[in-house]
Formats: sequence, structure tokens, C-alpha cells
Amino acid sequence: MDDSSSWDIVKASQFGILERCKELVEAGYDVRQPDKENVTLLHWAAINNRLELVKYYISKGAIVDQLGGDLNSTPLHWAIRQGHLPMVIQLMRYGADPSVADGEGYRALHLAILFQHMAIAAYLIAKGQEVDGPDCNGQTPLMLAAQKIIGPEPTNFLIKNNASVSAVDKVNRNTPLHCAVLAGNVDAAHILLEAGASVEAENINGHTPIDLAHQVHSPLLMHMLNQVKRERLRSNSRCLRVVNRYRVRLSQITRVGAIVDMNSESWLLKGILLACVIGPDFQSNLQASSLMASIFWIFSEGVCFFSSFFFSFLQVLFTLNATALLYYYLRTCRTDPGFIRATEEEKKMNVLVLAEAGCLDPRILCTSCMIKKPMRANHCFSCDACVAKQDHHSIWTNSCIGARNHHYFILFLFSLVLTGAWMLYGCVMYWSAHCMLRYEEQGLWGTFSGLVGCSPWLLCIFILVVYHTSWSTLTLLLQLYQIAFLGLTTVERTNLTHRQRKLRQPVSLRQNPFNLGVVRNLVSFFQLRCCGLFKPVIIDWTQQFQPGHQHVFGHTDMV
Ligand SMILES: [Zn+2]
Ligand SMILES: [Zn+2]
Repeated sequence: MDDSSSWDIVKASQFGILERCKELVEAGYDVRQPDKENVTLLHWAAINNRLELVKYYISKGAIVDQLGGDLNSTPLHWAIRQGHLPMVIQLMRYGADPSVADGEGYRALHLAILFQHMAIAAYLIAKGQEVDGPDCNGQTPLMLAAQKIIGPEPTNFLIKNNASVSAVDKVNRNTPLHCAVLAGNVDAAHILLEAGASVEAENINGHTPIDLAHQVHSPLLMHMLNQVKRERLRSNSRCLRVVNRYRVRLSQITRVGAIVDMNSESWLLKGILLACVIGPDFQSNLQASSLMASIFWIFSEGVCFFSSFFFSFLQVLFTLNATALLYYYLRTCRTDPGFIRATEEEKKMNVLVLAEAGCLDPRILCTSCMIKKPMRANHCFSCDACVAKQDHHSIWTNSCIGARNHHYFILFLFSLVLTGAWMLYGCVMYWSAHCMLRYEEQGLWGTFSGLVGCSPWLLCIFILVVYHTSWSTLTLLLQLYQIAFLGLTTVERTNLTHRQRKLRQPVSLRQNPFNLGVVRNLVSFFQLRCCGLFKPVIIDWTQQFQPGHQHVFGHTDMV
């Protein structure tokens, strides 16, 4: 490396050599003097995140909001472009004004959004910057995000911070949706439509976003906007909404009835036709709705079909088991898994406190929810919220599994496995009593044809039961292993396994601060007391914060 004692002051400022800079300033260099590119020393220190140097230059009279460089920007603008949050905080402490516009007309918040530095944007909003403050062209940060950023994060972030979707710019009177359509930004258009942006707002030329989608020849945007327009027209009329909902259901019931009543003997043909009729309705939340439908069929089949077959004692046991299944399923779906909530004021305070303590990083602050994450909490992108001690988002119940409903989920899995076992036993007993099957003589295909001929409906139920029993057994075993032997959630186990692969000498997963031993893990998880025999550990995971802002398992958003 060169000997810094011979460097000029610009190079010494860029590399943060405080002693050399002090030497030159003491020798008479004016800290306000710009170089030949019209850039001051404070700009060079700010863009390179030299905190000590900035402090020194300001103490020597440097002007904090000095404009300079090609884009006529302040040192604050330079620090924001580079994403240096500590420098932004320091400059604002020294009085830097975030509402000053640079040569392109952008203010501080606009730049933070354009360069996608969400932590800085959060800090600026918490410090009181208007989320809908216009730049010199009258554009709000949301319009810029919709127009210039491909990807959903900045648009999502601004919508969550209550940015207006109906604001218009000064020049063309375009709304953020006009901007997204003109830029062909499908992600942003989707978020804006979800947030209620109008598809019929007209700009200065009388063009709606739909007109602009035609102009930019985007079939996808045209389809999206027209569909939203139709849906909104329908949902505007309460009467039409009710008719529409029942029209779909009624036509389905009629079609299902017609197919079942068909003269054809082929159950294969009927099955395919039924799948065509019912299938499209289950496209959304496929797993959850298929499980709900399966539970319904298994339940009704078990109660009706086997009622004459099982002994009465077994009937009672089966009914109890099936009732427990329904109960725990509903408890899993309906119980709050431990969503972390905060008021708008609390969110702003969180950002300010964490930023000024130098802890504004994604392991501690969730930039989607703007909350300080408790220990073991994770952000769920399906629920769009942070969940305390989150295990995973279950596709089967279409809900998050977290601190408050995890034990219901385990009991639900257990009931499902038991019900499955009952049903498999019932099916085999029914076939051996009612169907003349001889595997040795008929072979595999012959036995299968015999089963189809004997009771095709029961065979369908059997396949359904095998499918649900298989996944629930595997999930239950994995969950019990994690809970009892490791004391970890699925997210934590995945993270730790991931990190272990990078280590030369892997450490056992069992060596973690949450593992209390098999018995105590189970006692605490299910809150077992057994008349005072056990003392479970009671922890409210929505309120547990790691001292010193450290995270136990490193970056948890990797999963
Ligand atoms: Zn979150
Ligand atoms: Zn979720």
C-alpha cells in the first residue's frame, strides 16, 4: 500500500485517513472548498461511509447540505445512493435536510426507494418524511417505484406505509397505476390493484390505465385490468354478488348430479367427468380444500358405510376419533398462531430506536411489518406477517403454524393418522367379508379389477385414506423428532442444518439453547401438568427479545 502521508486530501478522505486529513486541514486547507469536479470533502467522506471524518469536517465548518457533483447532490444524497444507513443517521443528526432535491429533482426518500434501500426509507419515514411527498416533477415515491423498479419490494413497502394509490403527478396527472402500466411493470400493477387502485382514473389526456395497456401492447396487463374491472362491477352490487356465488355452486351441483345419474356403467368415465366439473373450483388453496373435502368424505363414509359393519364399541371409538380430528383441524386453522402486531407509532419508534443503536438489520427488524422481531419469530410471506416461534406455513390447513397453534397441529396430525388407520382396517374388513377376492388365483390386476367391481366408491376412499395417512405419518414423525429430541422448529432445524454443512466440524443439532431434554421438551410443548407432577416452562414467544440485539441462529430469512 502507498504511504498515505503523501496523499492529497481527496484521496485521504476517500480512504478515511483521519490523521492525514487533519494534517492538511491544520496546514490551511479550507474544508468548504470544492475540487475541480465541484465535489466537497464532506461528499467524499459521506459516499465512503467515513463517520469520524464527517464529524471532523463538520466541526471545522463544512456545510452539511452543500450541493455538488454532476447531479448537484448533497452528501446525504450520496450516502443514500450507496445505502450507508449509519452515515444517513449521522448526517441527519448534524442537521442534513432530507427534503432538499438533487439535480434530477429527487428528494431523500425518492432516492432510497429508487436504489431499493428499504432500511433507509424506513428510517426517513420514521423521522417524519411524508410517504407521499412529491419530487420536483410532482411524482410520489410510489409512482417512481411503480415506474422504475422491477420487483415487488419497494411498491409493497410503500403500500404498507399507507402510500396513496390515487395521488396524481403534476405534469400528466398519472396515478401510480398509470406509471406501472406505462413501464409494463406487472408486479407493481398487481400490488396496486390489490391495494384498490382505480382502473378508470383518467390522466390529463383522458386515458385510463386500460387505455395505456392497449397503447403499450401488453396483453397480460390488459387481461389483468379488465378482469379487475369486471370483478369490481360484480362486487359493487350486493344482489349480483350473491347470485354469482350461488350460480357457480348450483350449476356445479346440477352437473355433478347429472354425471352420477348417467346411464353409463363406466366409473372411470364418470370419475373423469366429475374431476373436470369439480377440479377448477379447487385450483386456489388446492391442498387445503382437498384435505377438507377428504375429511368430509372420510367422516361421512366412516359413520354411514361402516355403521352396520363395526361393533358398536368400535363405532363409538371411531366417532370420537373423527370428532377429535375435526376439532383439532378447526383449532389449528382458527387459532391465532402468534401474529406480532404493532401500532403505527410503535413501528416508527422501533425503526428509530434500532437505527440509532446501529441494529437496523433484517435479522432484528422485519422491513415488511416494520416491527422488532422477537426471538424465534419469522416473517411468513403467505400470511404477510411475522409469526412468533413460527414452524412453517401449512399448505394443508392454509394457515401458519406458530407458538399458539403448534400443539393443535400435532394433535390434528395424530388424529388424522389414527382415523386413517381405522379406515384402512375398515376397508380391509369390508372387502374380506363382501368381495370374493383370491390373490393367488386372480393375480394383482385381477384382484384390483375385483375391488373396482365390488365397490368403486370404497376403493376411491381407500386411495384417499392411504394418501392422507402417508403424508400425515411422515410429517408427524418428523415433527415429534424436532420437538422432543431437538427442541427446535422446522425453520430453525433447516437453518442449522444449512449452516452445519458449511462447518468443517459439524456440531450436533441437539446442542442448542432451546433443547431441555426429551421429557421437558414434550412437557413444555404440550403444557403437561399431570396434577402437579410436571412443571412446564411457560414462555410468551411474542414478547421474548434477544438481549444485545444478537440472533441465536444467524440469518433466519434464508428459508
Ligand atoms: Zn414481518
Ligand atoms: Zn403463514
